[in-house]
Amino acid sequence: MNNRNVSALKIIVPPADAAILVSDGEPIMRGKGDMDLVCGHCRTVLVSGETATEVALQYKVMHIVIKCACGNYNALTPCEPAPEDDRQRSIAEAAYFLAEKRGFEPGGALQDWLAAEQQINAPGPRH
Ligand SMILES: [Zn+2]
Repeated sequence: MNNRNVSALKIIVPPADAAILVSDGEPIMRGKGDMDLVCGHCRTVLVSGETATEVALQYKVMHIVIKCACGNYNALTPCEPAPEDDRQRSIAEAAYFLAEKRGFEPGGALQDWLAAEQQINAPGPRH
Protein backbone atom coordinates (compact mmCIF):
# COMPACT_ATOMS: atom_id res chain seq x y z
CA MET A 1 0.00 0.00 0.00
CA ASN A 2 2.93 2.34 0.58
CA ASN A 3 4.34 1.43 -2.76
CA ARG A 4 2.40 3.82 -4.94
CA ASN A 5 3.93 5.73 -7.78
CA VAL A 6 3.08 9.38 -8.00
CA SER A 7 3.47 11.20 -11.26
CA ALA A 8 2.90 14.94 -11.60
CA LEU A 9 1.07 16.03 -14.74
CA LYS A 10 2.18 18.83 -16.97
CA ILE A 11 0.36 22.17 -16.78
CA ILE A 12 -0.72 23.25 -20.26
CA VAL A 13 -3.00 25.56 -22.16
CA PRO A 14 -5.69 23.15 -23.38
CA PRO A 15 -5.78 22.62 -27.16
CA ALA A 16 -9.07 23.37 -28.92
CA ASP A 17 -9.84 19.69 -29.58
CA ALA A 18 -9.17 18.53 -26.04
CA ALA A 19 -11.84 16.86 -23.95
CA ILE A 20 -11.69 18.68 -20.63
CA LEU A 21 -12.60 16.85 -17.45
CA VAL A 22 -13.11 18.98 -14.37
CA SER A 23 -11.97 17.82 -10.96
CA ASP A 24 -13.58 19.36 -7.89
CA GLY A 25 -10.69 18.24 -5.72
CA GLU A 26 -11.52 14.53 -5.98
CA PRO A 27 -9.87 12.11 -8.43
CA ILE A 28 -11.88 11.90 -11.65
CA MET A 29 -10.97 8.23 -12.01
CA ARG A 30 -10.11 5.48 -9.60
CA GLY A 31 -8.55 2.29 -10.84
CA LYS A 32 -6.75 -0.65 -9.36
CA GLY A 33 -3.28 0.26 -10.58
CA ASP A 34 -0.49 1.58 -8.42
CA MET A 35 -0.05 4.98 -9.99
CA ASP A 36 -1.53 8.28 -8.88
CA LEU A 37 -1.45 11.22 -11.25
CA VAL A 38 -1.33 14.55 -9.45
CA CYS A 39 -1.82 18.17 -10.48
CA GLY A 40 1.46 19.67 -11.65
CA HIS A 41 0.64 22.80 -9.70
CA CYS A 42 -0.92 21.85 -6.37
CA ARG A 43 -0.36 18.06 -6.25
CA THR A 44 -4.03 17.20 -5.80
CA VAL A 45 -4.60 13.60 -6.91
CA LEU A 46 -6.51 13.83 -10.19
CA VAL A 47 -6.39 10.20 -11.27
CA SER A 48 -5.99 7.47 -8.68
CA GLY A 49 -4.83 3.92 -9.19
CA GLU A 50 -4.16 3.89 -12.89
CA THR A 51 -1.56 1.73 -14.55
CA ALA A 52 1.09 3.45 -16.61
CA THR A 53 0.23 1.56 -19.76
CA GLU A 54 -3.47 2.34 -19.56
CA VAL A 55 -2.86 6.00 -19.04
CA ALA A 56 -0.27 6.30 -21.74
CA LEU A 57 -2.25 4.51 -24.43
CA GLN A 58 -5.62 5.91 -23.59
CA TYR A 59 -4.75 9.55 -23.49
CA LYS A 60 -2.36 9.57 -26.34
CA VAL A 61 -5.42 9.08 -28.49
CA MET A 62 -8.01 10.98 -26.54
CA HIS A 63 -6.27 14.30 -25.84
CA ILE A 64 -7.79 14.56 -22.41
CA VAL A 65 -7.08 17.54 -20.21
CA ILE A 66 -8.02 17.65 -16.54
CA LYS A 67 -8.92 20.95 -15.01
CA CYS A 68 -7.85 20.90 -11.39
CA ALA A 69 -9.81 22.60 -8.62
CA CYS A 70 -6.88 25.05 -8.41
CA GLY A 71 -7.75 26.27 -11.91
CA ASN A 72 -4.81 24.80 -13.81
CA TYR A 73 -5.18 22.52 -16.82
CA ASN A 74 -3.20 19.28 -16.63
CA ALA A 75 -2.28 17.31 -19.74
CA LEU A 76 -2.61 13.56 -19.45
CA THR A 77 0.61 12.67 -21.18
CA PRO A 78 2.33 9.33 -21.27
CA CYS A 79 4.73 8.80 -18.39
CA GLU A 80 6.73 6.46 -20.54
CA PRO A 81 6.69 5.77 -24.27
CA ALA A 82 3.70 3.68 -25.23
CA PRO A 83 4.40 0.47 -27.07
CA GLU A 84 3.34 0.84 -30.68
CA ASP A 85 1.69 -2.43 -31.44
CA ASP A 86 -1.42 -2.91 -33.51
CA ARG A 87 -3.47 -4.52 -30.80
CA GLN A 88 -2.98 -1.67 -28.38
CA ARG A 89 -3.61 0.91 -31.05
CA SER A 90 -6.85 -0.88 -31.89
CA ILE A 91 -7.90 -0.77 -28.25
CA ALA A 92 -7.11 2.91 -28.02
CA GLU A 93 -9.18 3.62 -31.11
CA ALA A 94 -12.10 1.49 -29.92
CA ALA A 95 -11.99 3.22 -26.54
CA TYR A 96 -12.06 6.58 -28.25
CA PHE A 97 -15.20 5.68 -30.20
CA LEU A 98 -16.91 4.41 -27.08
CA ALA A 99 -16.07 7.64 -25.28
CA GLU A 100 -17.29 9.66 -28.22
CA LYS A 101 -20.63 7.82 -28.13
CA ARG A 102 -21.01 8.91 -24.53
CA GLY A 103 -20.19 12.49 -25.44
CA PHE A 104 -16.95 12.26 -23.41
CA GLU A 105 -18.94 12.32 -20.22
CA PRO A 106 -16.59 12.40 -17.21
CA GLY A 107 -16.00 9.29 -15.18
CA GLY A 108 -16.37 6.57 -17.81
CA ALA A 109 -13.01 6.60 -19.52
CA LEU A 110 -11.65 3.61 -17.65
CA GLN A 111 -14.79 1.59 -18.40
CA ASP A 112 -14.48 2.54 -22.07
CA TRP A 113 -10.95 1.31 -22.08
CA LEU A 114 -11.81 -2.00 -20.45
CA ALA A 115 -14.77 -2.54 -22.78
CA ALA A 116 -12.60 -1.79 -25.79
CA GLU A 117 -9.98 -4.20 -24.51
CA GLN A 118 -12.62 -6.94 -24.31
CA GLN A 119 -13.77 -6.21 -27.84
CA ILE A 120 -10.25 -6.42 -29.18
CA ASN A 121 -9.36 -9.48 -27.12
CA ALA A 122 -12.41 -11.38 -28.31
CA PRO A 123 -11.25 -14.10 -30.74
CA GLY A 124 -13.15 -13.01 -33.82
CA PRO A 125 -16.91 -12.75 -34.33
CA ARG A 126 -19.16 -14.88 -32.18
CA HIS A 127 -20.88 -17.92 -33.71
ZN1 LIG B 1 -4.12 21.85 -8.94
